[in-house]
Amino acid sequence: MRKRVVILGSTGSIGTSALMVARQIPDRMEIVGLAAGTRVAELEEQAQEFGVDHLCIADASKKAPLSGPGRRVYSGEDGLTDLIEATRPDLVLVAIVGVAGLRPTLAAIELGCDIAVASKEILVMAGEVVMNAARKKGVAILPVDSEHNAIFQCLEGHKGSPEDVSRLIITASGGPFRTLPKEQLINVQVEDALKHPTWEMGQKITIDSATLFNKGLEMIEARWLFEIPMARIDVVVHPQSIVHSMVEFIDGSILAQLSTTDMCFPIQYAVVWPERLANKLKPLDFPSLGKLEFEAPRVDDFPAINLARQAGERGGTLPAVLNAANEVANEAFRNRSLSFPGIWEVVEETMARVEHVDSQELEVVVAADLDARRVAEQIFASK
Ligand code: NAD
Ligand code: MG
Repeated sequence: MRKRVVILGSTGSIGTSALMVARQIPDRMEIVGLAAGTRVAELEEQAQEFGVDHLCIADASKKAPLSGPGRRVYSGEDGLTDLIEATRPDLVLVAIVGVAGLRPTLAAIELGCDIAVASKEILVMAGEVVMNAARKKGVAILPVDSEHNAIFQCLEGHKGSPEDVSRLIITASGGPFRTLPKEQLINVQVEDALKHPTWEMGQKITIDSATLFNKGLEMIEARWLFEIPMARIDVVVHPQSIVHSMVEFIDGSILAQLSTTDMCFPIQYAVVWPERLANKLKPLDFPSLGKLEFEAPRVDDFPAINLARQAGERGGTLPAVLNAANEVANEAFRNRSLSFPGIWEVVEETMARVEHVDSQELEVVVAADLDARRVAEQIFASK
């Protein structure tokens, strides 16, 4: 089957990898809609290459250069939803940073589209809402995040009870400061934090990988995607990023998914699922790898994992608060207004200050997100 696909965030790191996949498998993947934030020239180039008539640009002032015969150009807050409604695709790939993709994702589910989720923030903030809506509509939520795609693949052959899964083991590269002594973390500069040892990604997630908030967000993401309590989600540092994650069963057997570090693997799998398709991606060569290493994460020096565990266990609005505070602090660090350890402090203080609501209804989490942003900004301004 040739899937009709809309990509939200097509000019970003995941978006451009998805288009690389589309070039490789044109018989299986037709691009019917593209959405970007601001990079209008790149969006135009993509539209021409893939013959796409439905485009969305977040920045309404950049709409004019995209218009042309047969073109429909959308923008503004509802633009993403308008694009999905107009194209009615089989699959929507959500690859926007942060929570901007949440409402369009829910709209796509209502229309019966399958969803490939790269934007972990939407599952962290409103995983319960998204998964419930998908269950009700019978649509698939296909994880693109490499760890979750790995777990998804490991679970696919399992025919027994969900209770047979004893643990999800999420791997982490450890980021650029894996071995940096704690007292030197205060001196970390933006340029150092943007040097990821194994993956090339957008700036926000690269900083999240350095603080380990990326792993924290992924623990909460896994909790919703696989409906498993936080207590059964573990993190292990694996500096080579070859084992993308693992599932442990009650009999002690562990299944893992491995590949070279290239996001085209999980993206292709999400697109052709439930089938497999040969490709030209670089295969793994074990002898040249030599060794795969594993170690415990430094949870006391990098508090993100414990904060996320706390948020995931408490549930309600706390994950949305953690996520929003992290978005504010991550950006403040990138703007050089906050120190590196300041990111953890802002998140921890915001989580303590924002009033907790024990609900994940959409309007409740959206309000908590706004509240947390306001509080986080006050906290970082006072530092
Ligand atoms: P990026 O910054 O490289 O790209 C983001 C894209 O979203 C850009 O095309 C940007 O123009 C677009 N965008 C932003 N706001 C928009 C809006 N309102 N409307 C339309 N488009 C908008 O980010 P990325 O690294 O590709 O990450 C995207 C998401 O995928 C994040 O949630 C990230 O956590 C997740 N993710 C990324 C990777 C990776 O390898 N890059 C891996 C796993 C998960
Ligand atoms: Mg990941």
